[in-house]
Amino acid sequence: MRALIKPSAGPGLELADVPEPPPGPGEVKIRVLRAGLCGTDLHIEAWDDWAASMLEPPLVVGHEFYGEIVELGEGVPTDERYGLQVGQRCSVEGHVVCGVCRNCRAGRRHMCVRTSNLGVNRDGCFADFVVVPHSNVWVQPELIDPDLGAVFDPLGNAVHTALSFPLEGEDVLITGAGPIGVMAAAIARHAGARYVVVTDVSESRLQLARSVGADLGVDVSRERIAAAQERLGMTEGFDVVLEMSGNPRAMAELIDNCTHGAKVAMLGIPAEPFAIDWGKVISHMITLKGIYGREMYETWYKMTAMLQTSGLLRDRVRSVITDRFPADRWQDAFAAARSGQGGKVIMDWS
Ligand code: NAD
Ligand code: ZN
Repeated sequence: MRALIKPSAGPGLELADVPEPPPGPGEVKIRVLRAGLCGTDLHIEAWDDWAASMLEPPLVVGHEFYGEIVELGEGVPTDERYGLQVGQRCSVEGHVVCGVCRNCRAGRRHMCVRTSNLGVNRDGCFADFVVVPHSNVWVQPELIDPDLGAVFDPLGNAVHTALSFPLEGEDVLITGAGPIGVMAAAIARHAGARYVVVTDVSESRLQLARSVGADLGVDVSRERIAAAQERLGMTEGFDVVLEMSGNPRAMAELIDNCTHGAKVAMLGIPAEPFAIDWGKVISHMITLKGIYGREMYETWYKMTAMLQTSGLLRDRVRSVITDRFPADRWQDAFAAARSGQGGKVIMDWS
């Protein structure tokens, strides 16, 4: 089969011909139809310090995808209500948890202390076929088309972050209009926020944020968030902030624009440790909450349910996909993702 692999330690990837993986006990083999590119894949291609510390090549990369079940390993449940069947369409949770640590046993699987990741610690989905544990499969209804199904991983990041604090009637600031920030804007609008303001330094990305329902897209290289608050007639600051840039300057400015008692959910991953105004966090009684991955599988349930009931939300989430390439043009796909100007980049493996 075709597979996009990191053949050895160092920069670059290679589209290679490798043996199809057999499903082991409890595992499912899936034919990949669509796969999405994520910042993680760019780090792996470039072979930065993070990638060098995490990966043991050779490895098939990629973790965001949608596909069709083609084979069940021994012992995979097949009962009609909760089991799996060959031919079902699905998305997949890329975090494989240990199942036995305290958090796993308590049902807080997204907080597993021994998570391993598809396309990082085990062979991933940039291939014709991939094998995953059956419990990581999320069977999709027909309403979810392949493109939409391919973005459930980043959409799950957006939903996990956006729904970590109540949004109804709240003024919401989203820092960073990458694919996840734009999806979060669509979710915040769907969840009943009053004002949704999104910041970035890319005009094309801000335009995408406005098109999915943000009231304002603020280019922070030209305008301050405080000025945007004035434009909306806000006087006390944002109630909820979703940090989706990983940029220290975004963090500094958002703290200055929070109301007292604001809630800040932080998804963006900073490249390095940095200082913030802790005095303000304390005196303004701001709650900071780190967000990782998706809740297994409550976030999956919520995003499916929200998409099932809203054609507008489906259209808005689908619009975040701005570039599509056949798998054989993976180099163009990586270049588009690296440009940082468009939205989600999808590769077609079918
Ligand atoms: P992305 O890199 O495409 O988007 C980040 C955006 O932030 C870019 O558009 C960039 O222009 C913008 N930005 C830069 N400086 C800014 C500033 N000062 N103010 C506002 N925006 C600024 O990333 P993405 O795929 O949308 O993911 C968003 C973030 O979430 C990234 O940091 C990513 O690493 C992180 N992430 C975290 C998890 C997790 O589990 N915690 C999972 C996936 C992604
Ligand atoms: Zn665990």
